Amino acid sequence: MLRMGFAPQTTLSLRCEGDGMRRREREIQDLGEIEGIIRKALVCRLGLAADNRPYVVPLCFGYRDRTLYVHSATEGRKVEMVRENPHVCVEFDVDQEVLPAREPCSWSMRYRSAIAFGTATVVEDPAEKRRALDLIIAHYGGGASSGYPDRMVENILVIKIEMEHMTGKQANY
Ligand SMILES: Cc1cc2nc3c(=O)[nH]c(=O)nc-3n(C[C@H](O)[C@H](O)[C@H](O)COP(=O)(O)OP(=O)(O)OC[C@H]3O[C@@H](n4cnc5c(N)ncnc54)[C@H](O)[C@@H]3O)c2cc1C
Repeated sequence: MLRMGFAPQTTLSLRCEGDGMRRREREIQDLGEIEGIIRKALVCRLGLAADNRPYVVPLCFGYRDRTLYVHSATEGRKVEMVRENPHVCVEFDVDQEVLPAREPCSWSMRYRSAIAFGTATVVEDPAEKRRALDLIIAHYGGGASSGYPDRMVENILVIKIEMEHMTGKQANY
């Protein structure tokens, strides 16, 4: 599997590993384009694994500089799993459209999607939590706020996912 990776602190440098996507003509190579998919996506699907059991959960998110933030209640299955195993995978997809055809086997789907692999940590610093909440709100069109009460910030859990590599794919686009 080809992976486009980057050193977390660098800009858009790409690193290739492995043999590449099976449908190579569908692969999106440009990191800016992949980030465009992430910025456009309404929801991310966070994939977790613990005790050899997978779990996928849809979440709202904010994104900047190869870092994803999600917010959550302080307890629950995903939080337990992140604490047990920080290695995560996140999927995003946009521009979905069913493309009907005369022949059943010719039906297709238009889409652009991104998959990122990374490491998740629970954010403890209240200032970073506030910045993460601003990023999440910004993703949905809201403006930055200084109005998060301390108690709310204490009671909310923010998960930070530092992306180590990501791939992009498109079909019929
Ligand atoms: C579009 C969208 C956006 C969302 N945004 C957020 C967000 O920003 N923050 C947030 O915390 N939550 C969000 N949710 C809800 C989220 O998907 C989870 O339900 C929630 O975070 C609780 O997850 P948990 O692992 O703590 O589940 P728990 O409360 O611990 O429940 C565990 C079990 O409930 C079931 N379950 C949990 N979530 C779902 C689900 N979504 N659908 C079906 N079954 C489920 C699973 O079988 C799981 O094993 C969003 C959901 C959707 C659909």
